[in-house]
Amino acid sequence: MFSDRKKLTNRLKNLIPQKILLWRWLPALICLSISAATLLLWKALADQDQLTKQRLVTFAAASIKQEVNTQMRNRFQALERMRQRWKSRGGTPKIEWEEDAQNYLRDYLGFQAIEWIDPDFYVRWIVPLAGNEAAQNLNLAFEPRRKAALEAARQKNTLTVTRPINLVQGGKGFLVYVPIFLNTNRTKETPNSPQNSFDGFILGVFRLQSLLDTLLDENVAPGYALAISHGEEEIYRRSFSENDRQIEIQWSRETEINFEGVTWQLRVWPTSELLAAEQSLLPKIVVSGGLVMAILGALAVHLAQTAQRRTQQVETINLKLTQEIAERQKTSFALQEKESTLRNFFHSSPLMMGIVELVDDDILHIADNQATAEFFGITPEAMSNRLTSSLGVPPAQVRRWIQHYHESQKTGSPVHFEDPHKTESNTRWLSATVSPIVRTQGMRARFSYIVEDITVRKQAETILKQSKKELEILVAERTAALSQVNESLKQELKERRQAEANLRELERRWRMLLENVRLVVVGLNRNAQVEYANPFFLELTKYSQEEVLNQDWFHTFVPKSQIQQAEQTFKEILEEQFFPHYQHSILTKSGAEKIIAWNSTLLRNIQGEVNGTMSIGLDITERFAIEQMKDEFISVASHEMRTPLTSIHGVIQFLEAGRLGSLSPAGKEMINLARRNTERLICLLNDVLDLERMESGKEQIERQYCDSAELINQAIEIVNYLAQEHQILIETNPQSIKLWADPDRILQALINLISNAIKFSNAGSTIWITSQQENQEVLFTVKDRGRGIPTDKLESIFERFHQVDATDARKKGGTGLGLAICRSIVEQHGGRIWVESVFGQGSSFYFTLPSR
Ligand code: ADP
Repeated sequence: MFSDRKKLTNRLKNLIPQKILLWRWLPALICLSISAATLLLWKALADQDQLTKQRLVTFAAASIKQEVNTQMRNRFQALERMRQRWKSRGGTPKIEWEEDAQNYLRDYLGFQAIEWIDPDFYVRWIVPLAGNEAAQNLNLAFEPRRKAALEAARQKNTLTVTRPINLVQGGKGFLVYVPIFLNTNRTKETPNSPQNSFDGFILGVFRLQSLLDTLLDENVAPGYALAISHGEEEIYRRSFSENDRQIEIQWSRETEINFEGVTWQLRVWPTSELLAAEQSLLPKIVVSGGLVMAILGALAVHLAQTAQRRTQQVETINLKLTQEIAERQKTSFALQEKESTLRNFFHSSPLMMGIVELVDDDILHIADNQATAEFFGITPEAMSNRLTSSLGVPPAQVRRWIQHYHESQKTGSPVHFEDPHKTESNTRWLSATVSPIVRTQGMRARFSYIVEDITVRKQAETILKQSKKELEILVAERTAALSQVNESLKQELKERRQAEANLRELERRWRMLLENVRLVVVGLNRNAQVEYANPFFLELTKYSQEEVLNQDWFHTFVPKSQIQQAEQTFKEILEEQFFPHYQHSILTKSGAEKIIAWNSTLLRNIQGEVNGTMSIGLDITERFAIEQMKDEFISVASHEMRTPLTSIHGVIQFLEAGRLGSLSPAGKEMINLARRNTERLICLLNDVLDLERMESGKEQIERQYCDSAELINQAIEIVNYLAQEHQILIETNPQSIKLWADPDRILQALINLISNAIKFSNAGSTIWITSQQENQEVLFTVKDRGRGIPTDKLESIFERFHQVDATDARKKGGTGLGLAICRSIVEQHGGRIWVESVFGQGSSFYFTLPSR
């Protein structure tokens, strides 16, 4: 609370520090203000009082002056009257004069004496005489200054007053001369005219002390002291006390008393008694009243402030209390809500929860939730105030738990542990957290606990551990396998490297080979542009490398008449991946033709896509010329031999028929051998001539529409005797497809292939002959289960006189020209011929013809 108020004050202070400062000093300010106002008022009153007093002094001075003037005038008038009488009577008899003087002395107090001065300035008459004897017959002119004064008075003919003098009678006084001129006609202006008769003076003698004592008795300006000076000399003083000296200095007012040419300075001041009597109480009352008011005002403000502050404090406290009450209420509601939530949570929690106390060597249950109660198989109410040991928990477990409680008490923080709970039937694993509850000193230690039944988890953990172990074994195995693989990979890598080195070496060798071989090597891309040409090609054609590279192969290096055929072959190689042996010529730089026997293979990029060809060619120009010569020779020889051979054959037939006499058995056998050899020779000559005719173009094919099935059946019919002879079964199921071909030639080719199949099959086996449509072509197949052909002979058997076995001609008959003739026939028709065979299992001969 206090700190709150302090905070509030501080905040307010920060907000309005000046106001607060003013507020704090307000009583003092009010006190000061009222005091200042009081003092000002007091000052004004005091000033007013002083002014009043000063005015009174001035007034007193004026009244004294008035009084002195009046009284002196009266006395001077008395003297004047005496002169008038003298004048009007022409001199006043002494007795009358003395009576007059007596009267005046009586009427007007203050005279020392009234005297008559004769014209010679001697004092003649004196009233009263007593006390003034010293003046009797005194010549006033004995003193030059007095004489001058008397003369001046006579001259002026006017009343003349002397300055203060020492009187002959003793004491200070002054004289008043009234000159007497008997002629009444005299004028002032002419006092010394002969008509004037100077008759002396009426002289008034005044003793200052007694005159002024008389004039200024106590009734004149009572309470005031006064002093009269003539010039520097003080001639009279009426003072009541010596103490008035200070008052005189402070309060005295001066004025002048003028009469008949004489000037006295009159100084008047109040007596201390008068001052005391006239002292106004008002300023004092005002001062004291004001100060009292100031104090009271300050006090009142202070009290008001205190009251206000207290009120504010009370209001603040009230406000805070109200807020606090509201907050408490809110907190209380929140707490109730929280408590109910917690209670719900407490009882509905699947975790076991509760509050316990430690009692000796046991645990006392204060409050436990539903889950705990269910764990022990009772209700929460029944658990309250029960000892753990009484719930069937073994003592060893109770001791363990107590240890954990003690640990949490010692550290002041929650302690987590896992503990097995063994019952007769099973063991449950519990995961517990115990925390100390802060309590007032002296009370028994209390703890909260949260327990989770983790039996399932534990079991899962055990399984997991087992699995982990198994996994580890598996991993170890795999690792071992992997390291083996790794080893083998390493080995493989090594081998690869070796292979790479080998390849490089191989490549080097190949390159060397390509560079040095006496064969033409040409690499073309898919567009038939030259990408590579070996030195032999350049040597043969006399072109330079630059002239060859990137040139179009066919239109640069192939003779016009062969371009179409060569391009077709190139296309087939690329698209059908068919690698025939073929021939076409190339042109050298000089335009000479070189006949090349080509063998091509495909080039592929790293993705395995075909990107060109590599062809190796043998320059067979010379061989071709020799072949031609040979062919011509064979042809000529065959022609020349056929006629005599035919007649020899006829003679032998004659002999064999016994028309020229009978022969001995040995002779017959000899003749039979001669006949068969002659027949083979004739057959060979026919084949040679056939082939020569076809290849030389002498024998033109005559195309006509014919049927594939019909052709096959005719061929079978012709070779049927041979099949029977070899005990071979022929099966056929040909499709009937229309062909635009020379039927005799196709029949010749079919007979050749079927005869071979029969010849090279074992007795009892079957051969199959079919024809079928394949795209735009007719495919003929002759298939046997005979001895088959070795892979390296699959191409060469189509060459002339090529046989798999050199003894075939002798053993199986035949000339080694049959397949060469077949190829010639098929190619003349624009078809292809090839064989597929598995050595020892049989062969399949195929040829295609374009179907129209
Ligand atoms: P020939 O007149 O010798 O039969 P070919 O040109 O017809 O001449 O055959 C050449 C060679 O091909 C044969 O000598 C034989 O070695 C082999 N040949 C041909 N056809 C077959 C076949 N069906 N089975 C096994 N070998 C065959």
